[in-house]
Amino acid sequence: MIIYQVFQLKITTLESGWKKHLKHFRTVRRKLSGYQDPKIFCLSCSDSRVSVHEIFDLNAPGSIFEAKNIGGLFSDEARAALVYALNHLHPEYIMLLHHTHCGGYMSLETEVESEIRNHMHEYGGGKAKTKVTDYLISNKLNLQKEKTHQLIVEEGLRMQMQSVDDFLTVHYPQTQEKIKNGEVSLLPLIYDIVSGKVFRVPEKLEGSENMVREEF
Ligand SMILES: [Zn+2]
Repeated sequence: MIIYQVFQLKITTLESGWKKHLKHFRTVRRKLSGYQDPKIFCLSCSDSRVSVHEIFDLNAPGSIFEAKNIGGLFSDEARAALVYALNHLHPEYIMLLHHTHCGGYMSLETEVESEIRNHMHEYGGGKAKTKVTDYLISNKLNLQKEKTHQLIVEEGLRMQMQSVDDFLTVHYPQTQEKIKNGEVSLLPLIYDIVSGKVFRVPEKLEGSENMVREEF
């Protein structure tokens, strides 16, 4: 069976890493076998370049409870992950991490598979693009393609934040209180794929060729 043969070839590459994992993490794995206690909930894009472990050097096993999907949107699955985290893990940080050069957001401008396009539209990506396009027209701005893309990603993140905020208001008012008094941090961040910098999403849609963002 050809699929099985391919698997056999690939597994040899994974095997050495797994053996290393067993050796180095034996003690920690035992400790984590009965429970998990991550302090961070992170929703981010599936993009292989966006690893919250690498970006923030969080190598300790079990330190992050993650939800990932195309674009890092607050989808039904992401909502289920957040509910699990809030009910069972009580994270101190709720992080929404978007990134520049995001294929999910880029898909709004190109012909792509309907599964990707539908996902992006269903959870607000399409609205972000429309809002930015209207903003550029009404302000007579003709930005470079890269800057326009960044504005769409930023607007998309604000929309995801709003969705999370609305969800918490209805279902988790106690978490809202903790965010207000500083016990829980709600972090809307953007990772710049080119520079490696992380910045907070601006509070409102504002752009220019020379726009500067506040670093994390
Ligand atoms: Zn992405």
